[in-house]
Amino acid sequence: MFLSLRGVTKRFGEVTAVDTVDLDIAEGEFVCFLGPSGCGKTTLLRLVAGLEHLTSGEILLGGTDLAALPARKRNFGVVFQSYSLFPNMTVARNVAYGLECRKWPRDQIDARVREMLDLVHLGVHRDKYPHELSGGMQQRVALARALAPRPAVLLLDEPLSALDAKVRESLRGEIRDLQKSLGITTIMVTHDQDEAMEMADRIVVMNRGRIEQVGAADTLYWAPQTRFVGEFIGRINIIEAPALRAAAPDTTEEVLAIRPEHIVVLADGEDGRGIEATVRKVAFLGNTRRVSVEAGGQLLEVELHGGKGTVRPGDRLRLVLPADRIRRLADTRP
Ligand code: ATP
Repeated sequence: MFLSLRGVTKRFGEVTAVDTVDLDIAEGEFVCFLGPSGCGKTTLLRLVAGLEHLTSGEILLGGTDLAALPARKRNFGVVFQSYSLFPNMTVARNVAYGLECRKWPRDQIDARVREMLDLVHLGVHRDKYPHELSGGMQQRVALARALAPRPAVLLLDEPLSALDAKVRESLRGEIRDLQKSLGITTIMVTHDQDEAMEMADRIVVMNRGRIEQVGAADTLYWAPQTRFVGEFIGRINIIEAPALRAAAPDTTEEVLAIRPEHIVVLADGEDGRGIEATVRKVAFLGNTRRVSVEAGGQLLEVELHGGKGTVRPGDRLRLVLPADRIRRLADTRP
């Protein structure tokens, strides 16, 4: 395996920020560490970068233990949330900096800077200073600077979270395309599930320093193994009311859950099937309405599609929870 994490653990005093993480990353893969604030994703990235020391465990690159290699010798490109460009250097000098540190010959530096700035479409801005550029442009310079020395691995720490929504969206695609065309192994930290789902080949969902589940976006969505993953990736109803759990016995370690779009909504009176529900809230989301209903003594979220009819609080519906759509999840909490 290209990059392997074995029993990686990091403690800060009493706090275990990263707890026995095992993970294999293939060459050329784009992996996201995803999780809520405090789950340990940034610490895990910093351990890979060599910016923190492991409490225990090991990190291997191409089979070689990285423990003895300080950050600057790891040949990893890093981009942080804040652009961290050198404010007193032009765009071109920022990109050249790492190559000068590595004592590349001048002509090779010039060629590489040109190539990298073309790659991020900033060639015409090469002589500007960071403060003359927008946030999105600065982040593209940071990317060019990180990639210029041909790093073995690219590490991105919330690189888009300081940008506004429009720029963030367009940069998602741009980074993703760049990563694929260069084939560079990439790890990105994010707390934004949409970002992770759109960009990553595989998502590592973290909770309290541990990995909850690793998988492609669709796997995590369609086959979450835990309550935490079910609730973090998309929306899901935890089925609590005994009346709704008829077919499934209670257990203490597991919960039953169903995605809102899998609950079948019938009009009241429609052939008498299903369970009775009363509409409590309706949110209009364009072609979809997210409807909160009370059924069997608990609230459930369902979805209504298209323009058919209107639903209002107080309306009565009937619901069917198809048995094959009900998932059994390990009851993990954030
Ligand atoms: P965020 O998105 O808020 O940065 P995160 O998921 O990246 O969260 P970390 O920053 O890795 O989480 O933090 C994990 C845990 O480790 C938290 O409880 C945090 O308070 C603690 N922690 C992180 N860095 C340090 C440090 N240098 N000293 C002490 N505790 C730390």
